[in-house]
Amino acid sequence: MNNTYVYIEPEKFLMDVLALLRSFYAKLDIKPVVPESREDVKADAEKAGYFFSVKVMEDGNASVSFKGNGFVFSPEKSSPDDFTSYKKELCRKLYSVFKEDTGRDLPWGMMNGVRPTKPAFIAAMSGRGKSESDEYYKSEYLVTDEKADMSWDIARSELNVLGGCEHVESRCSGDRRGYAGGYSVYIGIPFCPSRCLYCSFTAYPLAAFKDSGDAYVQALTEEMKACSQIFPGKAPDSVYMGGGTPTALNATQLDRIISVAEDVYFAGPSMEFTVEAGRADSITEDKLKVLKKHGISRISVNPQTFNQKTLDLIGRKATADETVKAFNLAREMGFDNINMDIILGLPGEGTDEVKHTCEVIEKLRPDSLTVHSLALKRASFLGEWIEKNGHSAFTNTDEIQSLARDCASNIGLEPYYLYRQKDMSGGFENIGYALPGKECLYNVVMMEEVQSVLAFGAGTISKKVVPASNGTGGRFCRSTDSPSLGELIRSGDALHMDISRCENFKEVGDYINRLPELIERKKELFN
Ligand code: SF4
Repeated sequence: MNNTYVYIEPEKFLMDVLALLRSFYAKLDIKPVVPESREDVKADAEKAGYFFSVKVMEDGNASVSFKGNGFVFSPEKSSPDDFTSYKKELCRKLYSVFKEDTGRDLPWGMMNGVRPTKPAFIAAMSGRGKSESDEYYKSEYLVTDEKADMSWDIARSELNVLGGCEHVESRCSGDRRGYAGGYSVYIGIPFCPSRCLYCSFTAYPLAAFKDSGDAYVQALTEEMKACSQIFPGKAPDSVYMGGGTPTALNATQLDRIISVAEDVYFAGPSMEFTVEAGRADSITEDKLKVLKKHGISRISVNPQTFNQKTLDLIGRKATADETVKAFNLAREMGFDNINMDIILGLPGEGTDEVKHTCEVIEKLRPDSLTVHSLALKRASFLGEWIEKNGHSAFTNTDEIQSLARDCASNIGLEPYYLYRQKDMSGGFENIGYALPGKECLYNVVMMEEVQSVLAFGAGTISKKVVPASNGTGGRFCRSTDSPSLGELIRSGDALHMDISRCENFKEVGDYINRLPELIERKKELFN
């Protein structure tokens, strides 16, 4: 496969310029070169020639070369001293060059963060209207009308899930009741029956770790108990057990973990408690019985695709039929909030394959559907696969996206949260759809970072979210002298939240052996 070299100087522009190039030219294997690159890489690139290069010069102009043609970019509104504004102006210019070359717009324009709905959420939270939100998306980031609309709709849904408009009112009057004062719990199980081709999560093949299962459960339950006084006497708003695949554990182990969660965190049938039963090859009747016994309110049975050929290629060992059976079994046992995940843009899949997956989903009628666009993560096995096979097997188009959108709509599901990842095929996004009332609060809390999350298990990250000590009170809410949405966001305290994090070790052995250290770290974070 041929490398397509691009040169970027200085390196601080690398991430943004590269994100633009990879979104416009997803099928090229783009290799970045910066002044600090190894000499042999530079020599290879010089020999092959640069597809694109940009060099910001001392006088503030930038010398740009694209497909052998050169021009000088002279900023009109910014200087290199104001890095953020200069970068945006430069990227806007590059966007127009790449747009002219490819004849297309990017759905999310120049936005490449993982939380693209945040500006709309801030706009809605601070009493601003849709038009101000739209204007921000389009003028700052060149986002399409469709995505600006989608961001607003999702922000409104998120606010509903978070407790409705009375919380917006209460926040504006300085009273931080509701979700902002609460917390959620995440329980991580880092094991899976096998590793999928595209996986970049903490997920170890169970076969290699089966002897560590009980020790892991022991450590996990100890961690949960030891942290029980961080929010004394207070139940979380939601509990989410993910991974990995929690149902990769056996029924006894699952029972033990959930029992401790119930004892220590007052988890009960009225609380949102999700367990990702992700892979059908890990789902058995005895495990579902355990989940049912504990009143687990929401589970996931994730096909990703219903095309057997693709499942074989991506290394998901459960067959399409097994997933249908697992879903039906869960329904028969009374689970009334079942999510399914699918991925668009999987290798070898086009409209016909996605149509087939959508047809099966419409027959099964899950209560929520999370539609992902494949992220071409270089850290996964997929990175190696692409090295060998190139990008030509990946297709993700507007037509494919609309098939999934129609599928959700045909069974009454509405979009309620959205996020993006780096290097998503087609420059699209991941969208969570649900029947009204069946949305997952935890997903919204995570996306908008409006609540603390106490996380247990290997590779998990706890997050402390508190009202900022330097918050500017009334500035958050709409008033005659309040700043524009852009100014509010740029000021960095738009949501008036201070966020700090602490991470547990990813390796199972480190996690088990150094548990006291992790517990202390978490207590320190929250104290
Ligand atoms: S099921 Fe999910 S977590 Fe497990 S290997 Fe596959 S992608 Fe990774």
